[in-house]
Amino acid sequence: MIALRADLLDFTAAPAWGDTQPAGLRWRPDHWLLIEHGRITGAQPGPQHPGPGWHTEDHRGRLLMPGFIDSHVHCAQLDAIASYGTELLGWLERYTYPSELSWADPAVAAAGAQGFLDALLAHGSTAAVVFPTVHMTSAEALFGAASERGMRLVAGKVLMDRHAPDGLRDDVTQAERECIDLISRWHGRGRNSYAVTVRFAPTSTPAQLAMAGALCRADPSLYLQTHVAENRAEVAWVQQLFPQARSYLDVYARSGLLHRRSVLAHGLWLDDTDTAVLRDCGAQLAFCPGSNLFLGSGLFDWKARLDAGVSVSVASDVGGGTSLSMQRTLADAYKVQALLGQRLTAWVALHAATRGAAQALQLEHEIGSLEAGCTADLCLWDWAVGAVDARRLAVAQDLHEKLFAWMTLADERHLHSTWVAGQMRHQRAAHRTLP
Ligand SMILES: [Zn+2]
Repeated sequence: MIALRADLLDFTAAPAWGDTQPAGLRWRPDHWLLIEHGRITGAQPGPQHPGPGWHTEDHRGRLLMPGFIDSHVHCAQLDAIASYGTELLGWLERYTYPSELSWADPAVAAAGAQGFLDALLAHGSTAAVVFPTVHMTSAEALFGAASERGMRLVAGKVLMDRHAPDGLRDDVTQAERECIDLISRWHGRGRNSYAVTVRFAPTSTPAQLAMAGALCRADPSLYLQTHVAENRAEVAWVQQLFPQARSYLDVYARSGLLHRRSVLAHGLWLDDTDTAVLRDCGAQLAFCPGSNLFLGSGLFDWKARLDAGVSVSVASDVGGGTSLSMQRTLADAYKVQALLGQRLTAWVALHAATRGAAQALQLEHEIGSLEAGCTADLCLWDWAVGAVDARRLAVAQDLHEKLFAWMTLADERHLHSTWVAGQMRHQRAAHRTLP
C-alpha cells in the first residue's frame, strides 16, 4: 500500500478542440494517490494522512500524471536517431536498415531491448507500441525485457519480404510460422500484446500482406501496426507497386489489415475517402510530429482528422523522431498545428498522450488515467528545473496557461520518477541511484 502526495492531473473524457477549460479535465492539486497491489484504488485531499499501514511519499509541489503512451516507436533505431540529410526512403536505406541488421544477434537484441525500454521509462513513457526488427530474436528480446519491467507493451516481429537488404528479409512461410510461435508464447502473457507488424506496403509482397490479414482475422484480439502515407515519394512508389489499389490505405484495406486494433503511423497524405475508411474501421492514426518535421514528410492536420471522426494518438517515432520525450513531441505537435493555422491546447495534447491513446488501444481500463482500478503506471514530474521555466510558470494566470507552458518547456530533465504497476522503475540519478 503506497500513497503518493502531489498535484494529480488526468482526464475522464476527451477535451474538445480549442477548449481551455474542458469538463473532462480532472485536476486535484495536493492529493494523495492511493495504490494497492500495483493498482490505483483512489485519491484523497493532501492534508488528511492516509492512515497507518500506508507507505507514504510526500511530493508536494510536483505533478503526478499517468505514464505517457508512445503509440509508435522503433526500438532498433536508437543508433539512427539524429542522422543528417535524407527523406524517408533515403533515410531507411542509409541509416535505418544498417542499424536494424545488428539485431539478428540475440545478444545485441537483448541488450538493445533493455536499454531501449529503460530509455522509455527515463523519458516518462510507461507503455508503447513498438517496432523491433524482422528478426524473431528482436521481438523475443523486447517481450522478455518488457516482462522483466512489468511494462505494458504492444509489439510484433516486423514483416518484410521484399525491397529490403540481405539479412532484413523474411518469406511468407517462415514469417507466418514465427508470428504464430510468438503469438502463442507472448500475446496476452503478462502485459504483452502481439501486433501483426507490417513495416509498410513496399516491403511486403501481396502474399505476405494477405498472410498478415489472415492472422488478424483468425484472432481479433491481435493488434496491427504499420506505416501509411508518410512521404510523397513513398506514396508514389506504393501506387506503382499496387496499381489496382485505389490508394495507399486501400492496399491495407484489401488485405484485411484495417480494424479497431490497427495503429497506423503518420497518415499525412490521405484523402477524404481514406479518412472515412479509417473512421468506419476504428483504426487509429499515430501522429509523429517530431519525425514528420525532421524527415520533412509533411504537416498532419489533427483537427481535420478529429472532425472526421478518426482517433489520433501521438508518437515519438524514434529514430525518425529526434526525442523519446513526449513533451517535446507534443511541443512539436503544437508547432505543426500552428503552421496549419490551428492551435493545440495542452488538454487535447496531454489527453492524446495518456487516456486518448489508451482508449484507441482499447486499454483504458488498464492505462492512461488515475482512475481507480487502473494499473499504477505513473510519472512524477517537476514543474520547473531551470530559471526560464520557473519564471514562466510563476506568472501563469490559470491552469491551462501553466500546463501549456510546462508541456512546451519540459522534457525528461523534469522527470523525478517513473512507476510501473506501483513500483518505482526509474528515478532521476541526481536524487538516488537504483540498485
Ligand atoms: Zn515509424
